[in-house]
Amino acid sequence: TESIATLDPEIAQRIDAELARQQRGLEMIASENHTAVAVMQAQGSVVTNKYAEGYPGRRYYGGCEEVDVIETLAIERVKALFGAGFANVQPHSGAQANASVMHALIRPGDTIMGLNLAHGGHLTHGMKINFSGRLYNIVPYGVEEDTLVVDMDKVEALAIEHQPKMIVAGWSAYPRQLDFERFRAIADKVGAYLFVDMAHFAGLVAVGLHPSPVPHAHVVSSTTHKTLAGPRGGIILTNDADIAKKINSAVFPGQQGGPLEHVIAGKAVAFKIAATEEFKERQERTLAGAHILAERLNAPDVAAAGISVLTGGTDVHLVLVDLRHSELDGQQGEDLLAKVEITVNRNAVPFDPRPPMVTSGLRIGTPALATRGFSEAAFVEVADIIAETLIAGTQENNEATLAALKDRVHALANAHPLYPNLAPIGA
Ligand code: PLP
Repeated sequence: TESIATLDPEIAQRIDAELARQQRGLEMIASENHTAVAVMQAQGSVVTNKYAEGYPGRRYYGGCEEVDVIETLAIERVKALFGAGFANVQPHSGAQANASVMHALIRPGDTIMGLNLAHGGHLTHGMKINFSGRLYNIVPYGVEEDTLVVDMDKVEALAIEHQPKMIVAGWSAYPRQLDFERFRAIADKVGAYLFVDMAHFAGLVAVGLHPSPVPHAHVVSSTTHKTLAGPRGGIILTNDADIAKKINSAVFPGQQGGPLEHVIAGKAVAFKIAATEEFKERQERTLAGAHILAERLNAPDVAAAGISVLTGGTDVHLVLVDLRHSELDGQQGEDLLAKVEITVNRNAVPFDPRPPMVTSGLRIGTPALATRGFSEAAFVEVADIIAETLIAGTQENNEATLAALKDRVHALANAHPLYPNLAPIGA
């Protein structure tokens, strides 16, 4: 019965401080978002107490009648959202969803093709010390040195040469769209499964602002907490009944025990929100914001500091800043933006000459600010602040400039209150 504030003030204070940090600054990590209060209420509910190994109607525990309804609603909503015939909403995370897909469809030692981590792929698509790289024979495909985009003819040639059992299409840092239809044609040619990981762009797919992989892929996974704006977690979709069966047994008991039904309740709420006009309009501002950012970072004053935009622009919710020809490195860029309270992450760019802990890139995303209500005009101001901050980073005695930029960030944050009913800021 005791509240966290009195029972554990050390943790309660840090939670309040984290709320204030999110309220005070601008969150621009491309994989993050500000989820709805209703989603957090679901996650913070008594549903966390319930064991429910199995699936709705087929549980290994009693007392599952309410969680059966919750999980069924989550499944039906996400199927409708993405036009999929089957959904598993139990993966605890994106990484566990991907592990389950591989576990379901291929065997250790089989060959997988995935986008090179250094070119924007995810750890679970074949990084050496990730489960994917340890269990499977990884043949990475990459982007071209001149265009920095994936050349599908090269993917096809690589597939013919290596005869993979699975081709993974998806990314964590890539500013363009992948050609799912062509990926499927290549997969069919070599007898591979096409597995699309749409974690980053799922919110755009949900509203039709990005081509859907669902009609093309054998199986699709996603996280639920990035552009989709739900609780942290994963999902798996397919239209193939046989694959669906294998996926279900790969998730439970293959990878996981009891599902996180409180998180699944949060996913259900998020899927309901994702089907609204408001969500569609938010995704439109997400894309518009990314375009505004790319355009500003292409301007001559930024170019003069050796800074450019990878591939010259973006088709999605993020911009990759190319610092290969700047005296600023990724670490310095991240630290500078942190000084003005804009949170981004440094990110290796393809053919990066700097080491992975330093990098020559920044990944900057617009989903969280779009959720916070930023209009195109507000994104123009954000883009200008970012451009001026990075330029200031290449100049001496920039303290006063950075202080003024931080004031502009606080003005934007104040004009777009975040979670006003949850209190902190300045408390
Ligand atoms: N897949 C992609 C493409 C991602 O970018 C990420 C997260 O960064 C994941 C999967 C993994 O998700 P999680 O962090 O929930 O395990």
